[in-house]
Amino acid sequence: MTPEEFRRHGHAAIDWIADYWASLDDLPVRAQVDPGDVRRLLPASAPDVGEPFDALLDDLDRVVVPGLTHWQHPRFFAYFPANSSPAAILGDLLSSGIGAQGMIWATSPAVTEVEQVVLDWFAEALGLPDAFRSDGAGGGVIQDTASTATFTALLAALHRASGGDVRRHGVGGAGWRVYGSTQAHSSLVKAAMMAGLGEDAVRTVAVDPATQAMDVDALRAAMTEDTAAGLRPVMVHVAAGTTSTGAMDDIAAVADVVRDRGVWLHVDAAWAGVAAVCPEHRSHLAGVEDADSFVTNPHKWLLTTFDCSTFWVRDRAALTGALSILPEYLRNAATESGEVVDYRDWHPQLGRRFRAIKLWAVLRTYGVEGLRAHVRSGVALAEHVADLVAADDRFEMVTEPSLSLVVFRLTAGDEQTMAAMEDVNASGEAYLSHTTVEGRAAIRLAVGSWRTTEADVDRTWRALQQAAGRVSS
Ligand code: PLP
Repeated sequence: MTPEEFRRHGHAAIDWIADYWASLDDLPVRAQVDPGDVRRLLPASAPDVGEPFDALLDDLDRVVVPGLTHWQHPRFFAYFPANSSPAAILGDLLSSGIGAQGMIWATSPAVTEVEQVVLDWFAEALGLPDAFRSDGAGGGVIQDTASTATFTALLAALHRASGGDVRRHGVGGAGWRVYGSTQAHSSLVKAAMMAGLGEDAVRTVAVDPATQAMDVDALRAAMTEDTAAGLRPVMVHVAAGTTSTGAMDDIAAVADVVRDRGVWLHVDAAWAGVAAVCPEHRSHLAGVEDADSFVTNPHKWLLTTFDCSTFWVRDRAALTGALSILPEYLRNAATESGEVVDYRDWHPQLGRRFRAIKLWAVLRTYGVEGLRAHVRSGVALAEHVADLVAADDRFEMVTEPSLSLVVFRLTAGDEQTMAAMEDVNASGEAYLSHTTVEGRAAIRLAVGSWRTTEADVDRTWRALQQAAGRVSS
């Protein structure tokens, strides 16, 4: 493809995206295909001879779109929406166009320094403590996902707790223990598995049945018991916004428990952390000043194309101590000067792309005020859903609404709750997901897209009401 052909096809690709967005409202939200349907439409092998790029765009319409669940649809309310925005997409495109590899400062200084500044800006916008800023002992980095961030936090915690021994000799049979509530995201257990601790190293702590937040007394008791038994508590995972119900663990109370024990405190605010751009939605992060690490995903609710998970540490030395490695071919004067950050020491992988551009584009295009407006609109729409639930006695709230997440059920029972949700999802009208709370089924409705309006919420609610009528009759 010549540069001129690239220009022409580039315009066509952007047009395709704009047309796709314009068509979303009329498409069924959840994919309507069966297993194998997409594969069957594809040739068994790659073409021997190159094809015109237009053929790929045609196949997007013919093969891909019918097999998509449309995450950018205004009535996508399942899981946590991974929203995107025009600014982020253009930022991502520019990053691809530049094609720089920012594994170390020297391989492209701007990749590192823009990321440092953008993460400092973003930390300030979220009201995070100064200790996380890059001009002190801490700093931020963009990880691919919160799962990787939590894994990385655990590696840093093990490094600190072992005085570097884990780095040299591995985790051994030291009896390391990791804590999180029963509602902690599964990435915590996966992190323990990947770190070689094994899933049994994670001790799950009970939650308050009403709020689903960690029972901090139970945490204290568990840690005391484990220490007395000769086990070694290494990290506590605090959820500021659980996946199931958006429950907020009390970070400050947990910090009181871990403070004198030298245990790493990791705050997983993957979904809810970005709400802190609004000063009135920061209370769930009270106590974060005592955390050792913090993660939140702009790629969930903050308009930034997947993947973009922002991760900060208070003491970057623990991180780089755990992960730094310097093969001969990467030796360079800047690294040896100690004046630069080499991000390859901040996560498992070496190679890294210029992810900061898309977050930079979002922060600059929306401004912090624009981001606040987006978050506030999600919270207001969730409150509207809660009002709708309260006004129909066939439904009931399961937990208090949490920011833009509402969890409710049909009073008729679990079977009816699941059947009504499946009815709506199968219709393509909207897409919702489920959870169980204290053993009972519930529907989760998470607002996230910048396209979602009150009309979309009302349309979804009408579909749910009709489904409730059908499954209860
Ligand atoms: N933590 C929480 C609280 C989440 O809700 C999720 C995903 O929904 C994750 C972690 C995992 O996020 P990621 O897909 O970025 O690994």
